[in-house]
Amino acid sequence: MKKIAPKEKVAELIKKVLKARIKIESQEELCKLVLRELKKEDKDFTLSPTRVKRIALEIPEVEVKAKTKRKLGLLKIEKCPICDSPVEPIKVKNLLNKEIVIGYRCTNCAYESDLEAFVPMKYIFILKQRYK
Ligand SMILES: [Zn+2]
Repeated sequence: MKKIAPKEKVAELIKKVLKARIKIESQEELCKLVLRELKKEDKDFTLSPTRVKRIALEIPEVEVKAKTKRKLGLLKIEKCPICDSPVEPIKVKNLLNKEIVIGYRCTNCAYESDLEAFVPMKYIFILKQRYK
């Protein structure tokens, strides 16, 4: 039986892994490292690179940067396709420290769109200086 790793646990392990490495160059690598730690506790835990990135975005000590292979901005949406409420952009900084939108999140329901399906992106995870 596969088990979804609890969010708090994943967040804790992201910080642990980043403390050892400071910088990780892709969500796949971060996922692999966190999963390795998770499996020490329970070998049935599963984790996807997209989920690990989503959780990392919510950790104040971690900075997520995106490197786009193509230009973004083609797929702007204004309203949630499910409930019609306003959406807010999910933003990260790119390597030039400019904010870019990587998806949209509904302000009302759980809808989240991900532009990654259309735009290949590479993420970099950095532990902020003051937490080293
Ligand atoms: Zn909605």
